[in-house]
Amino acid sequence: MKIRCDCGHVISDSTDSLPYKCDLLPDDGYWDNIHQPILDSVLDYARCVAVGDREGWLSRNFAENYPRDSKDESILSDLISAVMSRVPTAYQCTECGNILIPKRDGSGYLGFQPLDDDWRDALSWRK
Ligand SMILES: [Zn+2]
Repeated sequence: MKIRCDCGHVISDSTDSLPYKCDLLPDDGYWDNIHQPILDSVLDYARCVAVGDREGWLSRNFAENYPRDSKDESILSDLISAVMSRVPTAYQCTECGNILIPKRDGSGYLGFQPLDDDWRDALSWRK
């Protein structure tokens, strides 16, 4: 995926762990849309495994071709990834610092320019 910033720089999203990419977790609805669904699914999975209904849980939550021999951690990781796929992704232009947030209607991005020059790695875990 590539996004062109207003400055002309092309932002590329073709690998993991990008320091200029960030998931946005809106506070209004975070609990209902992210936290609680993950918690409910993990608890449901654990309960199903405990009573010997792992296959039933997989059938209800994943496609028919999902590998049934997956380890628990892979299953839970895929589950978390599915929930997190609902979250919008922001990017920061590494040339001008513009932060691009997807428009709600999917028609492009809203750009926000930093107010000072200390904007590098604003979306990164890096310190
Ligand atoms: Zn830019």
